[in-house]
Amino acid sequence: MALKVAIVGRPNVGKSTLFNRLAGKKLAIVDDQPGVTRDRRFGTGRLGDLDLELIDTAGFEDVTDESLEARMRAQTELAVDEADVALFVVDAREGVTPGDEIFAEVLRRKNKPVVLAANKSESKASEAGVLEAFGLGFGEPIPISAEHGEGMADLYAAVAAHA
Ligand code: GDP
Ligand code: MG
Repeated sequence: MALKVAIVGRPNVGKSTLFNRLAGKKLAIVDDQPGVTRDRRFGTGRLGDLDLELIDTAGFEDVTDESLEARMRAQTELAVDEADVALFVVDAREGVTPGDEIFAEVLRRKNKPVVLAANKSESKASEAGVLEAFGLGFGEPIPISAEHGEGMADLYAAVAAHA
């Protein structure tokens, strides 16, 4: 049976890049429904010997009104509720931001395993950000580069622990 993985985190951390790297077959974008379901993307993929069902959550980059935070929370909750594992992505180059804290708070309230990925870790400049991500309280961050395909074996090990 496939492991359902929800890729969550604030805009621009590299969620969709990771989704695209992991997803072999991309399923339909659910864009005909109102509200929070609209912005999720589903796909199947493989990581090592794991079959995955992936949920990519959109970042609402172009929503600027005050409902943004509420929508991001709701969408994250929906995706995580459907998933076996939440894959929480942060940007190691930027370190932990207030935006990341919002997602961390949502995830702490959910009774789901969280794998923390510190993305954009392909350069030495990201090391401080990886360390900072420890402070989010989800255990050891896995340094990855979704763009360059680095850290996938460690990501596999962390995700497989919850399969
Ligand atoms: P999302 O909003 O979280 O889905 O983020 P995207 O996947 O759209 O990526 C946001 C930006 O970060 C894009 O310009 C990506 O090319 C870039 N990006 C994603 N992964 C990496 C990475 O591993 N390293 C670097 N340097 N950039 C990345
Ligand atoms: Mg995206």
